[in-house]
Parts: sequence; C-alpha cells; structure tokens
Amino acid sequence: MTDQNALILELKEGLLVRRQELVDRLERIKADISKPLDHDFAEQAVEQENGEVLEALGHEAEVEIRQINHALISMEEGSYGACDECGVQIPEARLKVAPYSSCCVKCATNNEQKH
Ligand SMILES: [Zn+2]
Repeated sequence: MTDQNALILELKEGLLVRRQELVDRLERIKADISKPLDHDFAEQAVEQENGEVLEALGHEAEVEIRQINHALISMEEGSYGACDECGVQIPEARLKVAPYSSCCVKCATNNEQKH
C-alpha cells in the first residue's frame, strides 16, 4: 500500500511538470496563431499552412492535458491505476511508461482494434 502511494506521488509530480509544459506550449501556439497575417500574398499562404500545423499541435496538447487532468482527478479520488473499462489494476510498469493511461493493456488493445 505504501509502495503504491509512493508511486502515485512520484507519477503525480511528473504529471504536474508535464502539464505545465503542455500549458506553456499551448499558450505559445495560441499566441502564434493569433498573430496577424503578413500582407504579402505568398507569405500568407505559408503562414496559413503553419497555422494549420500549429492548430494540430495545439489539439494534441489539449488532448494530453485532458488525459493528465483525468489521471490527477482519479489520484485524488483514490481510483487511480484502475482500468476505466474493466476495473482491473493497471500494472505499475505500464503506469510508469504511460502515467495517464486509463485502460489496461488488454482494453487499450481492444480499443485500438475497434478504431
Ligand atoms: Zn481493462
């Protein structure tokens, strides 16, 4: 039990650091997107393309932040580490590699196959 708590504390710290990184990145991306476009027509096309790439990156960061928040909430609730789908305890090794995975390997594989 103590081991589990120590693991959660360790992972929580990592998640908080990671979330801060993502929030910072998201802010930079948003600042870049909202920059006024250049008047030069050719450059405008390039900037629009960049904008799309930035938006995709921003979306990725948002998804990851949501997953981290989900993990942090379940840590508070004490349900952290249990699979969302089948309720089985996710192995420590998997949590260390993917601290905000909300499914066990079996369910994650099933989900991937569904898509
Ligand atoms: Zn599962």
